[in-house]
Amino acid sequence: MAADPVLVWFERDLRLADHPALTAALEQGPILPVYIHDPDAHGEWAPGGASRWWLHYSLDALSRSLGRHNLKLHIYQGSAEKLLPQLLQQSGIRSVFCSQPLEPALVQRNERLHQQLESMGVDLVAAAPALLHEPHALRNKSDAPFRVFTPFWKACREQLRTAPPAPLPAPDRFQVAQVDVPEPCDLDALNLLPRITWDDGLKETWTPGEVGAQQRLQDFLGEAIGDYARLRDRPDRRATSALSAHLHFGEITPSQIWAAVDAADTGSDKFLAEVGWREFAHHLLHHFPETVEQPMDVRFKAFPWRDPDQDAQAAAGLRAWQRGETGVELVDAGMKELWHTGIMHNRVRMVVASFLTKNLLIHWQHGARWFWDTLVDADLASNTLGWQWTAGCGADAAPFFRVFNPDLQAQKFDPNGEYRRRWLGDGPHPKPIVDLKATRARALEAFQAIKRD
Ligand code: FAD
Repeated sequence: MAADPVLVWFERDLRLADHPALTAALEQGPILPVYIHDPDAHGEWAPGGASRWWLHYSLDALSRSLGRHNLKLHIYQGSAEKLLPQLLQQSGIRSVFCSQPLEPALVQRNERLHQQLESMGVDLVAAAPALLHEPHALRNKSDAPFRVFTPFWKACREQLRTAPPAPLPAPDRFQVAQVDVPEPCDLDALNLLPRITWDDGLKETWTPGEVGAQQRLQDFLGEAIGDYARLRDRPDRRATSALSAHLHFGEITPSQIWAAVDAADTGSDKFLAEVGWREFAHHLLHHFPETVEQPMDVRFKAFPWRDPDQDAQAAAGLRAWQRGETGVELVDAGMKELWHTGIMHNRVRMVVASFLTKNLLIHWQHGARWFWDTLVDADLASNTLGWQWTAGCGADAAPFFRVFNPDLQAQKFDPNGEYRRRWLGDGPHPKPIVDLKATRARALEAFQAIKRD
C-alpha cells in the first residue's frame, strides 16, 4: 500500500540539509513542500524591508533546490491558521512536519494550530529548532534560566561534549505527493522586493540561500577563522563569518557550523563562543519574552529617555543617526554601511547603539526598530540582546556608565581610517551634532536618577 502523503511546512528553516522535520517527513511518505507568507503572525515584529529582500531570494533558492528533485515549493500568503486547515482538508493530508519556531508570537500561534489540527485528526509534528541547546532544558544551579553568559555557555558546552552536534545530511531520495491543493501563488506575488530600487548594495553583498550559506562558511574556514580572535573587532577587515542572516533564515544550522569548525580543527573557541551568544539570546527570548519591549533590568522602566515623538531635538537626533549624518565619523560610517549592505560590523553596532542611547539619550527601542527594518540579519533574539546589552539594561549587560567614545573606538579598531573612508569618502566630515563629553556627562547624570531607586 502506498504511504500517506505528508506536508512539510517551511518557515525559518529554508534549507534541505540538517533539516530534521524534512528528513522525518520523507521517512513517512511522499511530501508536499509548503511556505506560507504570514507577516501578521509576527505581531509587532513583522519582517522589515531588508529581511523581506533576503526572504525573496532565499525562497527562490529553496524553490530551485526542491525543483532539482522534481518538487514544487507551494507558496501561499495569508494566515497560516486559516490556510493550513484549508490545505489539509482539500488535500486529505493528515500529517504536518515543521520546525519549532523561536519567536514568541509564532510559538503561540503554533500552540493554537496544534489544537486546531488535532481536532481535525491531523498531527502537527514540530522538530527541535536549529539551536545547539533546547532553551527549556538548560538551567542554572538554582534551577532557573541563565541570565549570565559565561555559566550559560559553560553548561551548553558541557552538554555538547557529551552529545556533540551531528548534523543530518541532505536527503537523497524525495517522493512527490500527488494531491489536490488550492492554487499556490508565485513568489513575485508576495511583493517582498522594494518598489523603489535601493537594494543594489544588498545584491552585490549577498547570496541568500543554502548554497550561499555553505560557501560563506567554507570561505570563512579557509581564509579568516585562524585570525578571528585577533581581528574580529576590526571593521576594516573581513575577519568575521557573515553568517548571521543565513542563520536567521535557517539556511545553515549552528550544528553544521560546529561540526565544520571541529573538523577543520582550527582551535577557534572564540568563534564558537560568538555562536554561543546567539544561543544565549534565544535562551533569554524563550524565558523572558517580555524583554523584546521591556528592559530586563526593571530599574530602566523609570529611565528618563528623550522621546523623539514629543521632543523635536530628539527627533532630529534620531533622524541624523538613521541617515549617518551625526558628524561622528565611526557612527556615520556604520549607519551608511547598514543602509548600503543590510549589515553592520558588531563592534560598530555597539558604538552606534551606545551613541543613540547614551549620547542622544534616546530609548533603545527606536534603535532596535531601525535595525529591524534595515538589517538583513534582523533577529528578535539577537537584536533585543544587542540593544539591551549596549543600553545597559539587559541580561549580563555592559554597565550603563560604560559609554563608548566613538573617536577612541575608531582609533583602536579602524586605525588607518579605511573603514570610515570606505563609507564616508575622503572629503571633510561635518561637525558632530553633539558634544561627546557633555552628552556623556548628561547620560551619567540621568543614570544616577534610577541608580538611587
Ligand atoms: P561572527 O563574528 O562571524 O559570529 C558568528 C555568529 O555568531 C554570527 O553569525 C551570529 O549568529 C552569532 N553572533 C556573533 N555575535 C553575536 C552577538 N553579540 N549576539 C548574538 N549572536 C552573535 N545579530 C543578529 O544576528 N541579528 C541582529 O538583529 C543583531 N542585532 C544586534 C544589535 C546590536 C545593537 C548589537 C550590538 C549586536 C547585534 N547582533 C545581531 C549581534 C552581532 O552584531 C551579529 O550577530 C554579528 O555582527 C554578525 O556578523 P557575523 O555573522 O560576521 O558574526
